[in-house]
Amino acid sequence: MKLLRSDLERLEKEKEELRQAHEAERRKTKTAFDAKIEELTGDIEKLSKDFTTVNRELQKKEQEMKAVLELQDGLKKREENLQKTKVIISKLKNAFESFELSFACSNCSELQSDPVLLSCGHSVCKSCSEKTPGSVRCERCKKDTERSEVVESKLLSEITVKFKYSRQCLSELDVFPV
Ligand SMILES: [Zn+2]
Ligand SMILES: [Zn+2]
Repeated sequence: MKLLRSDLERLEKEKEELRQAHEAERRKTKTAFDAKIEELTGDIEKLSKDFTTVNRELQKKEQEMKAVLELQDGLKKREENLQKTKVIISKLKNAFESFELSFACSNCSELQSDPVLLSCGHSVCKSCSEKTPGSVRCERCKKDTERSEVVESKLLSEITVKFKYSRQCLSELDVFPV
């Protein structure tokens, strides 16, 4: 009987030891499991942040791309306008050259200064009309005009001054070398 009791006590003790060992093992496993879960949660958070960053970068790139396309569009329109302007300038230049011929002195062929009208209808610089004594010869149509018939033209004078000024303004633009 005594032997049985001691056996029972030993068995109880062994049972307790086993229970404690099992408990320790369970705790160890739970700690490892918790740590793994925490690690995975961290990974997920990091991935989520990475995804947000990548998404933001993508949106930024899309906006940049859009801006580049708009810029290209603008450049194309500007190029078209430039071509149109070049055509206009070319026409303007032709018109100016034609005007210049009309305003050229019949005698010295330069742009007239202080133009005077001759009886033939052509005009010459005042200084050219004073070069020869007596009548003034028009070198364009070879007609002579009596000095008393030479008329100073205020209107022609003004037009010539304005033409010279316009030509000066346009020559300041590189695109219009007059
Ligand atoms: Zn002249
Ligand atoms: Zn003439």
